[in-house]
Amino acid sequence: MEFDKLTASRRGFLGLAGAGGAALVLGPGSAQAARVRTSARILILGAGAGGAAIANRLSERLEGAQITVLDGKQEHWYQPGFTLIAAGLRPASYAVSSITQWLPRDITFINEYAAELDPEANRVTTTGGQQIEYDYLIVSTGVVLDWDAIEGFDLGMVGPETGIGAQYAGPDYAARTWAAIDRFTNEGGVGLFGRPETEMKCAGAPVKITFLAEDIATTKGNRGKCDFIYTTPGGALFGVPVIHHRVRQIMDERNITYNYRWTLKSIDAQARTATFDTPEFEETLEWDFINVIAPQRAPQVIRDSGLSWADRWTDEGWIEVDMQTLRHARYPNVFGIGDINGVPKGKTAASVKWHLPVVEDHLVSEIAGREGTRLFDGYTSCPLITRIGRAMLVEFDYKDNLVPSFPGLIAPLEELWISWLMKEVALKATYNAMLRGRA
Ligand SMILES: Cc1cc2nc3c(=O)[nH]c(=O)nc-3n(C[C@H](O)[C@H](O)[C@H](O)COP(=O)(O)OP(=O)(O)OC[C@H]3O[C@@H](n4cnc5c(N)ncnc54)[C@H](O)[C@@H]3O)c2cc1C
Repeated sequence: MEFDKLTASRRGFLGLAGAGGAALVLGPGSAQAARVRTSARILILGAGAGGAAIANRLSERLEGAQITVLDGKQEHWYQPGFTLIAAGLRPASYAVSSITQWLPRDITFINEYAAELDPEANRVTTTGGQQIEYDYLIVSTGVVLDWDAIEGFDLGMVGPETGIGAQYAGPDYAARTWAAIDRFTNEGGVGLFGRPETEMKCAGAPVKITFLAEDIATTKGNRGKCDFIYTTPGGALFGVPVIHHRVRQIMDERNITYNYRWTLKSIDAQARTATFDTPEFEETLEWDFINVIAPQRAPQVIRDSGLSWADRWTDEGWIEVDMQTLRHARYPNVFGIGDINGVPKGKTAASVKWHLPVVEDHLVSEIAGREGTRLFDGYTSCPLITRIGRAMLVEFDYKDNLVPSFPGLIAPLEELWISWLMKEVALKATYNAMLRGRA
């Protein structure tokens, strides 16, 4: 039993933090594996969760490699913190650090974006015009939020005066979202929540902010004057059936209305209305608060590169990697980590943690003249907050199996305080350890 618990806890994202600080540094990281000598040129696109972490892991594993990281941003954003900020539980600064503080010293960091990518020539051109040739490319650019796809919406509108939130747009927008939710839950009215039609990072986050806002209205004694409506373009509230049923049950219990097959098309900030495409006709609803979450796509440079799937997610552009090895199907010297991967599940930081050892294994093994063996099973995790102080620690794989990190200890579909602590306290420590290549 003890062995089972330990093994299981090591496979989950939060398991490492939950097992104590020692496990954070002794987890299945790369520090104990043998170093391999090489002069390979490795280029990493993006220094977010996946890019920073793989740079650290490869710098540990490889001796003599020329590792270059490209990212035009200067700030690193701890995005799982955005939901806590949007619920007034943390300040915007909670999610912000500098990109360079997470990168190893022995790599080259270029503070520019990739502007052009030529996988036939193994070359990337930066926004500043530098040309970088590589032997191996790791794509970890994450997603772009397509705000222009929502007619009438502009990020400048977000705040309490308009009643518009944008939990996904960044730490400052998440803080302004809180100001708008605070006002709505004081004054009452109709609150519109929901998710976009595309694949998205952390599909639980739109549900979490709905539950949190409802809980805040209840705590303030104002629930009676607030209506909550959740819209989703699909036919379910969550992609995994057993989680969908549980979320629906909670929404029913808490009198949150949900509309299936509704896609947000446009908003009118003056009139405070939102228009949705539905199977039969357009529907327009009035709101006092609306949380706008944009459709999500691969950055244009990736979509123009020839790395995207040709026959799947054609409007989104995720890259064509093998769902288990994360190696590109047509360019074997290219790997994907994180949200950019065109795989059926796994746009969470928790999944990134399990992309890392797979990509590291296949890349380092190839350099060492062996074949890599590690495979990604679709592990995705999301501490689904249901109230302040309560969450469900849902973890699942490609086959929609629930794969709890603490079987017998933490029931995945129960609203528990311990699962809340995982999100509120443990997740950031685990995430930071992952960035350093130690989890
Ligand atoms: C509101 C919200 C809540 C979330 N909650 C959770 C949660 O509770 N649990 C969880 O596990 N996950 C959660 N996530 C998801 C998690 O943050 C992402 O899955 C994770 O950050 C993905 O890592 P990544 O490296 O793929 O992308 P990112 O961390 O987004 O990093 C991508 C990097 O690539 C850079 N980049 C972009 N284009 C280029 C280019 N052309 N050239 C070079 N660099 C480029 C960007 O500047 C960025 O720094 C949440 C996300 C959001 C937005």
